[in-house]
Amino acid sequence: MKHIQIALDGPAGAGKSTIAKLVAKDLGFTYIDTGAMYRAVTLKAMKLGIDMNNEADYEFLYSTQFQFEDGHLFMDGIDVSNHVRSTEISNNVSLVSSFLSVREQLVMIQQEMAQKVSVVMDGRDIGFKVLPDADFKFFLTASIEERATRRHQDNLKRNIHSNIEQLKEEIARRDYLDTTREHSPLRPATDALIVDTSHMSIAE
Ligand code: C5P
Repeated sequence: MKHIQIALDGPAGAGKSTIAKLVAKDLGFTYIDTGAMYRAVTLKAMKLGIDMNNEADYEFLYSTQFQFEDGHLFMDGIDVSNHVRSTEISNNVSLVSSFLSVREQLVMIQQEMAQKVSVVMDGRDIGFKVLPDADFKFFLTASIEERATRRHQDNLKRNIHSNIEQLKEEIARRDYLDTTREHSPLRPATDALIVDTSHMSIAE
C-alpha cells in the first residue's frame, strides 16, 4: 500500500505542530516533529559536553536512536519530548541544525520513517528536501507577535516559565539564523500552499 506524506513547513510558532498533531490523529497517520529531533541532538550535545561549535564532535549522532510514539519523541529509548522545549535548547538549536553532517543524518532517518507509515511531518525543509515528492505540502506563517504569543501559551501549558518580549527576540533570532544558513535554509517548496495563520483559528 502506498503511504501518504503530508509536509508542513514554516517558522517557529506558526502553528505547525498543533495542526500536524490534529491532522495526524484525524487521519490515523504518524506525526513526526523534526524540530524535536534537532532539539534532541542539542540536548545530547549539551549533556555530553562536546564543543558545540565543532561539527566533528557530533559523531555521537551515528549511534543515536530516534523513535516517535503517539507524538512523543524517544531518543535512545527515553521520552525527551518535554526536555527539549527549554529556553537553553531553543537558543542553541539553530547552531546545531546549521551543520551539514547533522542535517544529512537526520534527513536520512526522517526519510526512512516516512517509508514505513503514512506521515504528517513538520519542520523547515520537509517540502523541498526531506519529502520532495510529498502528496501535500503546506507552508504556514504568522506574524511574529502572534507566534510569540502562541509559544508563550504553549509554554504555560507545559509549566515552562516564559516572557513574550523575550520570546519575540528568541523567535526573530531563530528565524534569521534558519533563513540565512548555508544548508537547507527555511523556505517554502515551490509547490507548497502558503497559509498565513495570523488571524485563523485552529479549526479554520
Ligand atoms: O520546530 P522547532 O521550532 O521546534 O525547531 C527547532 C529548530 O530546529 C529550528 O529553529 C531549526 O533550527 C531546526 N530545524 C531545522 N529543520 C527542520 C526542523 C527544525 O533546521 N526540519
